Amino acid sequence: MTPFRKNLIDGEWVGDAGSRNINPSNLDDVVGEYASGDAEQARQAIAAAKAAFPAWSRSGLLARHAVLRKASDEITARKDEIGRALAREEGKTLVEGVGETVRAAQIFDFFAGEALRLSGEQVPSVRPGVGVEITREAVGVVGIITPWNFPIAIPAWKIAPALAYGNTIVFKPAELVPESAWTIVDILHRAGLPKGVLNLVMGKGSVVGQAMLDSPDLNAITFTGSVGTGKRVAAASVEHMRKFQLEMGGKNPLVVLDDADLAVAVDCAINGAYFSTGQRCTASSRLVVTDGIHDRFVDAMKDRLAKLVVGDALDAKTQIGPVVDQSQLKQDEDYIAIGRQEGADLAFGGERLDRETRGFYLQPALFTQATNAMRISREEIFGPVANVIRVKDYDEALAVANDTPFGLTSGICTSSLKHATHFKRNSEAGMVMVNLPTAGVDFHVPFGGRKGSSYGPREQGRYAAEFYTTVKTAYTFAG
Ligand code: NAD
Repeated sequence: MTPFRKNLIDGEWVGDAGSRNINPSNLDDVVGEYASGDAEQARQAIAAAKAAFPAWSRSGLLARHAVLRKASDEITARKDEIGRALAREEGKTLVEGVGETVRAAQIFDFFAGEALRLSGEQVPSVRPGVGVEITREAVGVVGIITPWNFPIAIPAWKIAPALAYGNTIVFKPAELVPESAWTIVDILHRAGLPKGVLNLVMGKGSVVGQAMLDSPDLNAITFTGSVGTGKRVAAASVEHMRKFQLEMGGKNPLVVLDDADLAVAVDCAINGAYFSTGQRCTASSRLVVTDGIHDRFVDAMKDRLAKLVVGDALDAKTQIGPVVDQSQLKQDEDYIAIGRQEGADLAFGGERLDRETRGFYLQPALFTQATNAMRISREEIFGPVANVIRVKDYDEALAVANDTPFGLTSGICTSSLKHATHFKRNSEAGMVMVNLPTAGVDFHVPFGGRKGSSYGPREQGRYAAEFYTTVKTAYTFAG
């Protein structure tokens, strides 16, 4: 039976069926039906979060720890079921879906611990007899707006710190992946959150999301998604003088030098460019390869690409699932056409594939003879498409890697300590990888980028406190 999932506002499940969630591996499979909230529901959710804030922000640390810990335990216990549902609605493989679910559990576990580790500073004043305390307090009502490509990990890495530090939440997930969002909210609700602390408003970005941006009662917004929407979040947040944090696109370079271990470089490129169907903000979409290894690298990539199994996300043999939906598929195909028009050579893939079920299947594509000036090298495609850009040496590779409006991740494959060290210091990206794919990060360390990729404090790990708390400096004269 097709489930019907409602929104959670002020502790009550509300709403009528509004949108259907379709499996991109099988367009005849309806994952579920979901309430589609309106602007009024968004306002009610914000009012509920505002009313719940004073009590939750002063709640005992053990109460916050217990909810986060319980959520982590339930997600772990149900990882196969939740991971499968994620793969079914988003199209990433079962391994990726379960892996992402485990990651969400780890994030809740980490922030359960952080709730108990809040600390401040006590320092002497420059005035004799006066003491100074520096403490962190919750920010208030936090709006959380998330994209479709990490349906459970991104909500987890925003919701967990927001709750741990005592904030209340209005959460608006992406329209394409409501099941994962609903599941995580249901688990937290049953784990014992007081009413109004966590509100879920599924619905359209232009309606629910916009109502959140327009509200004077949201004290902070954390957003992950496209650059275009991120700019709207920024402009509206400045208007309301609220704190905001943006994680947006990428055009991440993976540099491959002559002295690289070819097998390691190909593994990094295949994983970074094509896993999760290339739909990762950290994907390696520019492969910047020096002359001496270029031809061997391209041949080895074509061999590996030919062996990749593209198919139904729920089939255990599948390595690359379908594209998430029709409009993303059109965008991928449009960019493949643009690359050819620009004069790049489509060395592998790029065509639609038929499988047993109707789905958005695309053969992963590799362009060679691309230049860094081409649109396919400058604009985020967000699909299984990567370009090889040939360069003469390390210096040119670094210059090309940095010549981009984005700055999320970068990578280098080399056996030279000198070049690896120089690259780590001089790459204009927030996260740098040596002999590792540009995608795939740890949950306990900061995540974020530079330039057009990110704005505001880092997410994840202890650095999350920077966004989800505000600093207070208190002076006391005790006589
Ligand atoms: P998107 O910008 O279309 O949507 C993101 C969210 O914003 C959705 O929930 C959407 O409903 C909402 N939204 C849309 N219009 C809105 C409005 N007017 N007001 C408020 N909210 C609105 O992005 P997407 O297509 O869901 O995700 C893909 C993008 O996300 C890619 O660009 C990718 O690089 C980026 N991304 C970045 C990171 C990162 O950490 N840097 C991680 C994952 C994805």
